[in-house]
Amino acid sequence: MKQKRIELPDLPYAYDALEPVISKKIMQLHHTRHHLAYVTGANAAMDRLEKFREGTGLEIDYKAVMRDLSFHLSGHKLHSIFWTNMKKAAKNNMPDGALLKKLEEQFGSFEKFQAEFAGAAKAVEGSGWAALVKDEEDLHIVEIQNHNLLGVVGTTPILVLDVWEHAYYLDYSNDRGKYVDSWWSVVNWDDVAKRLG
Ligand code: MN
Repeated sequence: MKQKRIELPDLPYAYDALEPVISKKIMQLHHTRHHLAYVTGANAAMDRLEKFREGTGLEIDYKAVMRDLSFHLSGHKLHSIFWTNMKKAAKNNMPDGALLKKLEEQFGSFEKFQAEFAGAAKAVEGSGWAALVKDEEDLHIVEIQNHNLLGVVGTTPILVLDVWEHAYYLDYSNDRGKYVDSWWSVVNWDDVAKRLG
């Protein structure tokens, strides 16, 4: 079977569901323009490779196509996790049960986990993500530059935070720190617990 082309997934909530933490305007643009561009880009890279395989006589620039596939497919995957990692804002929003216990064991306390994750998010140079990833029994906080650099290969992200300017600039201008600190109230900890497994 040939590689399946990607479709833009629906959001599990309305565009205004995360207000006032993330505005409807940002969510609309972010989903229908930015995420869609990664879907289109990943499909275009697959199309180019498929045409080349079919022996149409086209030349192919492997370096460029591999770079495009990595960037766009990673962008698609991270955004798909990001949308489901969020829900309507709640006060005193925090994990419980096995997830809370795991975070406490691995990072010292929930507050220490939050400080480390937020620290990583605020420190991303340029465009990127903070991610909580699972690696067999362990969890790690990593920084991802763009969508595909500096991450740890073979690990699975279970909580991701987009700190590209397109994710917050309309609401927070250049204050990424305020965006990161506000974001905790919309984290869908049930989704993170499910991904922890
Ligand atoms: Mn984004």
